[in-house]
This record gives sequence, C-alpha cells and structure tokens, in this order.
Amino acid sequence: MNNSVYDVIIIGGGPAGLTAAIYTSREMFKVLLLDKEICGGLPAGTDLIENYPGFSEGTNGIELMSKFKKQAQRFGTEIVEFKEVKKVEPVEGKMKVYTEEETYLGLTVIVASGSIPKKLGVPGEEKFKGRGVSYCATCDGPLYKDKDVAVIGCGNSGLQEGEALLKYVKSITFIEFLPFINAERILQERLRKNSKTNFLLNHRLISINGEDNVGSITVEDRQAGEEKEIKVSGVFVYVGFLPNSEFLEGIAELDSLGYIKTDEDMQIKVPGIYAVGDVRSKKVRQIGVACGEATIAAIAVRDYLKTIGA
Ligand SMILES: Cc1cc2nc3c(=O)[nH]c(=O)nc-3n(C[C@H](O)[C@H](O)[C@H](O)COP(=O)(O)OP(=O)(O)OC[C@H]3O[C@@H](n4cnc5c(N)ncnc54)[C@H](O)[C@@H]3O)c2cc1C
Repeated sequence: MNNSVYDVIIIGGGPAGLTAAIYTSREMFKVLLLDKEICGGLPAGTDLIENYPGFSEGTNGIELMSKFKKQAQRFGTEIVEFKEVKKVEPVEGKMKVYTEEETYLGLTVIVASGSIPKKLGVPGEEKFKGRGVSYCATCDGPLYKDKDVAVIGCGNSGLQEGEALLKYVKSITFIEFLPFINAERILQERLRKNSKTNFLLNHRLISINGEDNVGSITVEDRQAGEEKEIKVSGVFVYVGFLPNSEFLEGIAELDSLGYIKTDEDMQIKVPGIYAVGDVRSKKVRQIGVACGEATIAAIAVRDYLKTIGA
C-alpha cells in the first residue's frame, strides 16, 4: 500500500485525464494520475487533428498530448504510467484505487479511462492481427506503402484515419454496413474526390482471408445478397468503441453500452467519484468535449474537497 493520501487520483491520461490534472494540480492539490499505457490516449494515435481550437493548420496528436502532459507536470501532477487500475473501492470517506501491484488512497477519484476499439468478430480478424489487420492507421500506415487496403467503417474515425493512410497506400476500399456515410461532410467530400478511394456502402464484411498475411477480404452486398472477394494487403478497423468502465462495475451506474452515468457536475452516485471524457454516457465524443467535462469535474472536486475540509 502506498501510504500517501492524494487529494485527487485521476485514472487515464488522455485529453480528459490530463485536463483534470492541469486544473486540480494548479489548485495546488496533491494529484496522482495513473495510465495503463503511456499518457496520450486516443489522440496519440491520430496523425492530424484539425478541429481542436488554437491550431490553425491542425496539429499532430502526439505533439498535442505531450503539451497537455508537460502542462500537468508543470503544476506538480505525479504521473505513473503502465499502471492499470483494476478496482476502485470507497472505504470510510476515502477511495482505494487498486492496480496489480499497488493500492493508492485518494479523497476523490476522476475516472477518465476512455474507450477501446471494438472488434469486428469476423473469421480472420484474430489470426491476422498485426499481420494485416490493424486498429491504428497512424501507427501502421507506413507498412502499406503502395499497397491496396480496406478501411472498415465510414464514421469520422474511419474517414479521418483513411485520409491519413492515403499518403502511403495505392488504394483504399471503404466498406460501410449502412447505406450512407455517417461522417463530417468536409471529410466525405475530400475523400470522395480522391482518385485512390472507392466506397462500398451497404456492404457487410464477411471474412478476412490469406495464408500468413492478409491477402483479401470477402464482402456481401446487402441489397443484392451477392458476395465478392477484394484483394487487399491490409484491413483497418473503425467500427466503434467499448468503454473502459469494468473496474467501476457495482459502484457506478452504467448505461446499456457500459458507459458511466453522471450528474451535470460529472459526479456518479458515490460522492467524490467523477467520470469524464469518452467513458461517460453521452452523445458526442471529441477532444474539446473531454476537456470541457474534465474542467467541470475539476471545479466540482475543488468544491467537494472544501466541503470535507481538505
Ligand atoms: C481515429 C480517431 C480519430 C479521432 N480524431 C479526433 C479529432 O480529430 N478531433 C477530436 O476532437 N476528437 C477526435 N477523436 C476523439 C478523441 O480522440 C476522443 O474523444 C478523446 O481522446 C477522448 O479523451 P479521453 O481522455 O476521454 O479518452 P482517451 O483518449 O481514450 O484516453 C483514455 C486513457 O485512459 C487510459 N486507461 C484506460 N483504462 C485504464 C485503466 N484501467 N487504468 C489506467 N488507465 C487506463 C488509456 O490508456 C488512455 O490513455 C478521434 C478518435 C479516434 C479513435
């Protein structure tokens, strides 16, 4: 057991967690931030972010997040990376936060653990993971120079990451289950105009095929009911996300998809525990929203700590 008692323990070092860290440590609270990987969250895997205010030409996700992290550290946040939180337990007015090796004590907890990409669940996905199947275009794009690839899912994430892939690949076939594209219009227009792209809407991915590496995919035209094989060397998957909320099960109220429900101060039903960013139950998941919610929670934490005399 780590004997220090922190005023605030933040779980997750993406935009939400790091913003909460900047605000609470600038209030001179004793703040610990735990991340199961390196801080940065989802933006650290995004090549170009064009809609975060303050960067007129856009910004690279890793650079943006390293600025968030430096800012939190400047105000004194203690950051511990590669520490996955397994459980949170409120005990006699304090919060016990368990990782595999350590238990930390806090007066408040801000959960900012985000979400992870959903799997497709089709034959070939597991077999070819890391050998043609990827969930991160920014990380793996350079491996597909002059190759034909498929992007599964035409939401904002799929189109944005597809755009990042275009600088490497020979062609991209976008596969979308729905008969329409559900992404920002500016992205749709840019990608539709590009001669390297092809869109198969109302198509279902049936399997990912190959010997040692991905060689093709099989898709079904949902209207015609016909199957066809498309030769590709890579398959990039963007079909939605699952919340990282399992360590709060039994403590927080979750919606039907597992996202954490809060009040408008971002507090769950247990006083002193807050949830912000993508892990929170809501409609819009963006960096600006994550930062805004973290700001609200940080101010609520300040007020809560005052009420308990901390
Ligand atoms: C491909 C893609 C492109 C995007 N592009 C944009 C864009 O251009 N503009 C925009 O505004 N938004 C964009 N988004 C959305 C944006 O990335 C998210 O809304 C934002 O990252 C949410 O921040 P967060 O801090 O809530 O979660 P995350 O960024 O997911 O961070 C969560 C952090 O928690 C950590 N964590 C998880 N579980 C645990 C645990 N048990 N213990 C400890 N740590 C844990 C994770 O390692 C991670 O670092 C994009 C998303 C994707 C997937």
